[in-house]
Amino acid sequence: MRLSIFDIPDDGLQQELVLPIAINDSAKPDMAHVFLKVFRFGKKILVEGTLKISVSLNCSRCLREFSYPADTAFREEYKPAEEIKEEDDQELTEQELDLGYYSNDELDIPEIIKEQVILSIPMKPLCNTDCQGICPKCGKDLNDGTCGCKEEETDQRLAPLSKLKELMKDRGTS
Ligand SMILES: [Zn+2]
Ligand SMILES: [Zn+2]
Repeated sequence: MRLSIFDIPDDGLQQELVLPIAINDSAKPDMAHVFLKVFRFGKKILVEGTLKISVSLNCSRCLREFSYPADTAFREEYKPAEEIKEEDDQELTEQELDLGYYSNDELDIPEIIKEQVILSIPMKPLCNTDCQGICPKCGKDLNDGTCGCKEEETDQRLAPLSKLKELMKDRGTS
């Protein structure tokens, strides 16, 4: 769904949307409930809104899929991408890097929402803060109970140390 910036009235545009959002190409889409207000100041567009979605994520410890509820409010400015080309030789200020861009006088609403969803989910999602993860030896999901690898636990604890030693050695030779 694309919104032509010329369709934004002077007093802004309000929209309530339900959009399928897939956070990456392999993910199956989840429905986002969005309330949007879009304002135009010349070529500068201000988008503010709220967003609710249950995102299907894979736990970073046990890899199980779980549902992460995201409920967020956002406010973002967008400038025409064509303007960057004109200012090519100028360095972008930090503030400008924070801006979003649109092209061909159109705002890509699903893309804007997708960005906001990605910003609102954790970098290392956990199905549960107490998630036990999987055993690095046998691959068993330790949330289902312990496995038979317990005797090797001491080796596992020393593993980071030997890795560090290896790193130091590598550094010394290079
Ligand atoms: Zn987990
Ligand atoms: Zn195991």
